[in-house]
Amino acid sequence: MRAVVVSAPGTAELVEAACRPPGPGEVRVRVAVAGICGTDRRLAARGADPPRIPGHEAAGHLDDGTPVGIHPDVGCGRCPHCLAGLENRCPDKRSVGLDRDGGLAEWLCVPAAHAVPVAGLDLRLVPLLEPLACCLHALSTLGVGRGDTALVVGAGSMGLLCMWALQAAGATVAVAQRSPERRALAARLGADVVLDPGQDPQAELGRAPSVAVVAAPGTEPLAWALAKVAVGGRVHAFASTPGGAPVDANVVHYRHLTVVGSTGSTVGDYRRARDLAASGEVPLARLPRSTVPLERAPAVLLGRDGHGALKITVDVEGTSQ
Ligand SMILES: [Zn+2]
Ligand SMILES: [Zn+2]
Repeated sequence: MRAVVVSAPGTAELVEAACRPPGPGEVRVRVAVAGICGTDRRLAARGADPPRIPGHEAAGHLDDGTPVGIHPDVGCGRCPHCLAGLENRCPDKRSVGLDRDGGLAEWLCVPAAHAVPVAGLDLRLVPLLEPLACCLHALSTLGVGRGDTALVVGAGSMGLLCMWALQAAGATVAVAQRSPERRALAARLGADVVLDPGQDPQAELGRAPSVAVVAAPGTEPLAWALAKVAVGGRVHAFASTPGGAPVDANVVHYRHLTVVGSTGSTVGDYRRARDLAASGEVPLARLPRSTVPLERAPAVLLGRDGHGALKITVDVEGTSQ
């Protein structure tokens, strides 16, 4: 089968790879489409030994034709986190596309429970369910409800998916973003308020946001959110930040803040993402997306292609060429 393989740091190649048969409890998926995100680019930059097929945002068909989306966080199934249904916290989790081979290949084998049926959804949008599931998981740690005011810092694809997820939970959402183009995009996609970091969310929203999701890396966006949420507010550190993001503990202390974090999602979050997309509450088709053939995936992974695109999906099957 054709597959993209990451080996030495800074290498990603399209190769002819062996297609392994499904193991016990696994199903085989004929991959149709897969998304590429920062996690995949970081894997390509640091390399993989043994070599790895990336792609944790995949969709395709089972042998019987059932359309499925892949939930990538595969837990051990035995530890306290897995038994509580929080496989994304499992210390021994083996995530599809990171710790085991992923969806940038014509075939993929995953545990049956992680191939989630997605009948009725446009398969080209199904790679977006994984990042949406991560947003839903993050929101579950914030306890967002109807009537909340929320602040999203950063209008990249994750920030915009969080915006829709917060709105679906009943919140009024302000999106803060430095670039005017991205601010305009957030407004077009339905942000209740857009602002640049020089503006005050409380003034724009009418009251200080009770929750914030920081979907931009670095200390500055996190520190800004900690300063701008309401006293007693809750802030999710959602962006991965190379080198860390030190913040002033006094701000947390004197403003009575709760800082939370999470990474990945559970199968339950993935199913909720599917249902929100299917009902139209989260309008995934409106997220700007560019699609490339599998041949271009290595260049995208290595940052040599796809600049400026908000979200890139890979047409693995070659149907749209
Ligand atoms: Zn991702
Ligand atoms: Zn576990």
